[in-house]
Amino acid sequence: MREYAFELSLCAALEADSDGVLARQLGSTGRIVDVVEVRPGPAFDARVELSPDAIPAAAVESDVGVGRARYWKEAIEGHPERARDVVDAAVAAGFFVEERHDGRRYVRRTARYPDWIGGLRAFENKPDLERAGDLRLQLRKDRSLALFDEVVLVTGSYVTGAHVNRLPDPVGVWRFDAEDGDVTVVREADPLPTDAPGFAIRGRTPGRVDIEPVDADAKARRRRRIAERAYGKGWRPDALPACERAAARGPAFQPQDALPYCRWKARIVDPARECGSSCAGYEPGDPPPADADAVRAARSPWDPDPAGAGGRQAGLDRFASDPE
Ligand code: SF4
Repeated sequence: MREYAFELSLCAALEADSDGVLARQLGSTGRIVDVVEVRPGPAFDARVELSPDAIPAAAVESDVGVGRARYWKEAIEGHPERARDVVDAAVAAGFFVEERHDGRRYVRRTARYPDWIGGLRAFENKPDLERAGDLRLQLRKDRSLALFDEVVLVTGSYVTGAHVNRLPDPVGVWRFDAEDGDVTVVREADPLPTDAPGFAIRGRTPGRVDIEPVDADAKARRRRRIAERAYGKGWRPDALPACERAAARGPAFQPQDALPYCRWKARIVDPARECGSSCAGYEPGDPPPADADAVRAARSPWDPDPAGAGGRQAGLDRFASDPE
């Protein structure tokens, strides 16, 4: 099976078994992680209530408080254009609310930022272990930095002892059947020391490894950024193919989903790579009706319209054309 369809099927299976949230293809310290699962922490419900969107890291890290309004240009460090972008995004997400003081735009938090991240699990997908590319280096990077509590290699291949022995010890190994959604745990993942400093591997040449020390506070910030992006992004594609032969469907073990399925190829397709005028089966048309947000809301704790986020857009519109 192709990597894209394998990955979407894995996400569907993981989501069915998770009480947290999942996302695909997230950038993290020099590499893209295939799938990230954020497990719920003690205040997960408060995060769900706060916003369906990712809250900008700079807003979370600012000293804007619930009871302490700040002038918008001083609320976020850096150039005013950056400050405006961050403030606007935080207001749009419902994390900041706006006020007027002496004719100027001030912002404060609508709520304390909740302690909602119970753990991060990273999945590296290799449907075919014989075409694993630079897999070992990627997994060594994960072990060295220890940004994720667990790292798991997921494959559709038969896994031999030789395969397992070539992988760093803490990395778990799963065999996944993308047709029926079954997981076989070949080796459990060992927890990584996420609270301790780590080393980011920046490059590797024969006889030399370039590393960057990353202290525990910086790791905590990176973990929160990843979790926020995962919360806002999810894993389902934004758009389905504009083709008469496309359908919104899930993998065989969970067909009621909103994934890009091609009736001509009789499988899940990657719209960016496979669809369009270069495809022999392409028949221009509207994308099939689908509501990925509704499916995500039904299958996970994520809420597209939480009560706590009400009224945020009105404030943004009010100040959109007013620089002061
Ligand atoms: S463009 Fe091709 S691959 Fe994509 S849905 Fe249409 S027939 Fe299928």
